[in-house]
Amino acid sequence: MAISGSQRQTLRAIVDTFAPATELGEERVPAGSEAGALEAIEEAVASAPRTFDRQQFGLVLSALGGRAATAIAGGGFRRFAALDQQQRERVLLSWADSPLPQRRAVFQALRKAALTMTYLAPGASGQNPRWDVIGYPGPPMDAPKQPHPLRTLPVDGDTDLSCDVVVVGSGAGGGTAAGVLTAAGLDVILVEAGGYFAESDFNGAELEGLKNLYLGAGGIGSDDNSIGLLAGSCLGGGTVINYTTSFRTPDEVRQEWAGLGSAGHASPDYAAAMDAVCERLGVNYEHSAPGSRDALMKSGLDALGWHADFMPRNVRGCNQGERCGFCGYGCPLGAKQSTLKTWINDAAEAGARLLVDTFVTRVMIKRGAAQGIEGQHRASGSRIRVRARAVVSAAGALHTPALLRRSGLRNSAIGSNLRLHPATAVWGVVDERLDPWNGTLQAVYSDQHRDLDGQGYGLKYETAPVQPSILVGFGPWRSGRQHLEMMREISHTAVIGVLLRDKGSGEVRTARDGMPVVRYHLSDEDIAHARVGIEGAAKILEAAGAQRIFTSHSKMVDTHGPVRVEELMRRADAAGFGPAQVGWYSFHIMGSARMGSHPTSSATDPTGQTWEARDLVVCDGSAFPTSSGVNPMISIESTAYMNAQALATRLT
Ligand SMILES: Cc1cc2nc3c(=O)[nH]c(=O)nc-3n(C[C@H](O)[C@H](O)[C@H](O)COP(=O)(O)OP(=O)(O)OC[C@H]3O[C@@H](n4cnc5c(N)ncnc54)[C@H](O)[C@@H]3O)c2cc1C
Repeated sequence: MAISGSQRQTLRAIVDTFAPATELGEERVPAGSEAGALEAIEEAVASAPRTFDRQQFGLVLSALGGRAATAIAGGGFRRFAALDQQQRERVLLSWADSPLPQRRAVFQALRKAALTMTYLAPGASGQNPRWDVIGYPGPPMDAPKQPHPLRTLPVDGDTDLSCDVVVVGSGAGGGTAAGVLTAAGLDVILVEAGGYFAESDFNGAELEGLKNLYLGAGGIGSDDNSIGLLAGSCLGGGTVINYTTSFRTPDEVRQEWAGLGSAGHASPDYAAAMDAVCERLGVNYEHSAPGSRDALMKSGLDALGWHADFMPRNVRGCNQGERCGFCGYGCPLGAKQSTLKTWINDAAEAGARLLVDTFVTRVMIKRGAAQGIEGQHRASGSRIRVRARAVVSAAGALHTPALLRRSGLRNSAIGSNLRLHPATAVWGVVDERLDPWNGTLQAVYSDQHRDLDGQGYGLKYETAPVQPSILVGFGPWRSGRQHLEMMREISHTAVIGVLLRDKGSGEVRTARDGMPVVRYHLSDEDIAHARVGIEGAAKILEAAGAQRIFTSHSKMVDTHGPVRVEELMRRADAAGFGPAQVGWYSFHIMGSARMGSHPTSSATDPTGQTWEARDLVVCDGSAFPTSSGVNPMISIESTAYMNAQALATRLT
């Protein structure tokens, strides 16, 4: 959808209100539009997979371009673009603080698009003009281009293939399933919607990395924008871009899942699957040297006498150096043991075929059994059909339920029970330079508040690399100047992430166009846990010597000189914890096609086979009965390992 001239004028006004040109002494900071944000937003919208989203964007621009939108917000009957900066800021803030969640949602969508692209767009010179201003050096330079080690199937026209098992999706679940099934002697075709990228493509550049490696270029969220949803989309899926934290499924979670009907999770087979996965991924504790972010968190935890421990990680030969902080856009050293480097590599060496850039539209089901898949090659539009004796659905917990629905499955558990480990961030500005974009991805965690209800539900404290897009994603915007000041402190800004084990759940609906739409709101109990986490993170930062602390609320919730956590929490309570009042993201998407013992309460049987179609087996994060409470990769790979072995036994 091309936007009209007047819509572009409104978009420019919005972008330059969020990120206006600013005089800093002698220096002039260019406006967002001068950094190339407009073009980057238009390109992102044009490549959005859903027509609905593209239309919504146009509608919002048209509405803001009209006189009524500003009148409602106290801007008088004038078009948004005709107001001055102060008036425009007032209009945007009235949306940010509106009692209507829909208005807050529109504000959040505009804020993220405008500011993300302001700090990510390459600018006219190839380097974003704001990076110098905020003291961000950008990613390390390109590795020399090298040929990709794996061969993928060429597509030159409509294609018909056949095999024993076709695996849809190549992330933690699909990659592992392909490895296990191929090792069992089965002929496997692995079909992946994303592209194939390897070490020499991983240059740490945020915009390029998001476009090439992330689902929806990192820009998707729940239907009201109250929570952003991050997942990988490339050969290797989330395991290519994830932070390598490798926790085994805790025993009490395994027992809980068994109690909910997934008996296998408490069995010796699952323990053996976790052993095999950790062995293949080289999970170890020898690569957890804390960078400045993690060292600061550890110092705060130690000062408080709180639990702190080092992360197990799936890396081999990780140098834990500066460029490691950029591995969220792929590890250029090849140290991260993604499924691409492990199971998919093993499968390909043993003869499995890899088909990339191919979106599977449906599973073919006849007489109650899966018979293969149909899909479309993205670049050429060619039709792809793969006939098979069995199908593994491992498209991730957003796309597996949508795929099952598009294939005609009706079970009500498909799409319900979505779990997200909602994550928010608390920020601390310290005297020393931290360069929080550098260093080991994640090295330290705390389970101090792991169990807040006596049933294993609580939260984890972790850090993560902070490139500009992360601070933009979570951090508050109250004016162009305030935001710029916040960004100018990025090199001195520490983050404590609060990851909830969510007790409540949401749902993945399948829209008329067949695409997933997420509804998710935190339950009251989860909000109460979030409050504990935000307060806990602030205490950690205070103990570590932060001079100023602020939360990820939409309103400014901060404390400085001297820091007082009580006051911060009073402000947090006043700012609220409702939808789009706090910045939330999910890095862990789970539970939307859960395993269980009965079709009324689960989407699959205890081996992952769907109740409605034989030989259609779910092998990804959607299979979890509840959230794992720990970063889920090892649990997903182990579940996929167990389910794929059961399938291999049936087929061979
Ligand atoms: C930034 C980030 C950091 C993370 N860090 C950690 C960490 O440190 N430790 C940890 O345990 N977890 C981490 N995670 C989470 C972890 O990576 C994911 O939970 C895991 O990869 C999910 O596995 P999956 O198999 O369910 O789906 P995915 O890995 O998301 O794989 C699904 C694949 O299916 C493809 N697909 C979707 N639809 C279709 C279709 N219709 N046809 C064909 N292909 C399709 C997608 O393109 C994707 O590649 C992180 C996640 C993110 C986003």
